[in-house]
Amino acid sequence: MRPGPPAARRGQAARIDRRLEAFYGPPPRRRSRDALSTLVGAILSQNTSDANSRRALARLRARFRSWEAVRDAPLASLIGAIRPAGLAALRAPRIQAILRRVSAERGALSLTFLRRWPVERARAWLRSLDGVGPKTAAIVLAFGLGKPAFAVDTHVYRVGRRLGLIPGALSVEEAHPWMEELVRPERHGAFHLLLVRHGREICKAARPRCHLCPVRRLCDFYAARVPARAGRRAP
Ligand code: SF4
Repeated sequence: MRPGPPAARRGQAARIDRRLEAFYGPPPRRRSRDALSTLVGAILSQNTSDANSRRALARLRARFRSWEAVRDAPLASLIGAIRPAGLAALRAPRIQAILRRVSAERGALSLTFLRRWPVERARAWLRSLDGVGPKTAAIVLAFGLGKPAFAVDTHVYRVGRRLGLIPGALSVEEAHPWMEELVRPERHGAFHLLLVRHGREICKAARPRCHLCPVRRLCDFYAARVPARAGRRAP
């Protein structure tokens, strides 16, 4: 079994969390969605931009009045509705398969039963759905069900590795349980959102804007590039 994060890294994560929140402000509370909407939204957001996935979800809601209608719609109609997200011919049958399975297993189109389950049982059930990987499951757990789970998307993975929070040898999948151990459960959702925002605005993929970064004194990448300046730790 892989050892968990050392105490020093937990402290570093907590300091980075505090500084990012001081810099960006507390992340806005997400408009509460039911877990099924969160799941469908997360499937639509895979490998596409936020703008495209939001458009696809809005079109789906405008075209269908209920999840039952989405489940029973002709496949071509659903593909047309979610086309802005891309890969619509792949996503649409997955969404319908999930809705059919929930109906068959629970007798109703709702994921509220997962609220009563322990987090790992709920995660395992979500992961058993076609098209649901560790990130999508964590998003549903954290933002649809209010459970402790840390979603590692492309921004969190890149920023976390640069900062030294995620060891370089860990895959994205392995980074999920690692981040869940590294960060206090009550900060999972907020810290995830702060890292995503930081990755979009400052710690960009191609050219990180380190000169603007509020956590550069806590960053391994920065220390390696600018060792003398990084050595002067901010109070
Ligand atoms: S110092 Fe640079 S590499 Fe490190 S987190 Fe900030 S922007 Fe990213």
